[in-house]
Amino acid sequence: MQFTTKNRYARQIILPQIGEVGQKKLIEAKILVIGAGGLGSPALLYLAAAGIGTIGIVDFDVVELSNLQRQVLFEISDLKHPKVEAAAAALADLNPEINIITHQLKLDDSNIDEVISGYDIVLDGSDNYTTRFLVNDKCIEHKKPLVSAAILAFSGQISVFKGYNPNQPCYRCVYADIPPEGTMPSCSTNGILGSIAGTMGTLMATEAVKEVLQIGESLSGYLLVYDGLKQEFRKVKLHKDEGCITCHPAA
Ligand SMILES: [Zn+2]
Repeated sequence: MQFTTKNRYARQIILPQIGEVGQKKLIEAKILVIGAGGLGSPALLYLAAAGIGTIGIVDFDVVELSNLQRQVLFEISDLKHPKVEAAAAALADLNPEINIITHQLKLDDSNIDEVISGYDIVLDGSDNYTTRFLVNDKCIEHKKPLVSAAILAFSGQISVFKGYNPNQPCYRCVYADIPPEGTMPSCSTNGILGSIAGTMGTLMATEAVKEVLQIGESLSGYLLVYDGLKQEFRKVKLHKDEGCITCHPAA
């Protein structure tokens, strides 16, 4: 490892759980972040700063003024520019040693296999159920750990789904099916405090790094629920749904 690389990551290389061996694993890791929004912004910043060697970003949108309240990757000069391009430029400024791949598209059945097959771990910070269910189903098919978070108002949730393993639930085990459009509250209609997105996106980065290094206790099998108004975290045990159409072989 070069001196400048060692120096850049010095504060995490001294951690006994990481070391130079762990840093090499981070540099070799390939992580896909779906959605460069409120969750994706902090997740991307911390993953790039930690030296994740290959980071993919999926987003089809452009930067809007109302994004800047929580999407900390972006600045005024990015307005109306594609989010993936603005994000890639910001991350390259932060860490030019890593490889950033942009996917400016809306994920659907026709393109998702090709996109996710190039990565080891997937982070889903998307804002709609259609994408979340599609990503879940494909992560099981491709056997990729899925770090999934959601935010609303002053609260958030996060879990890691590895439904391809026996006894470990998938997203669909917990949420069953796509709710009818317009029946669920969303950040655009019900609001979100920016720092809540920051908290949950940062937790996503922590889970992704733990997954690469295989350290600590994964959130797989648990849902971590955050209440920002009470400043309270609750960890809820999740169970594999015996009738799950995606991850239960007998279903
Ligand atoms: Zn399932």
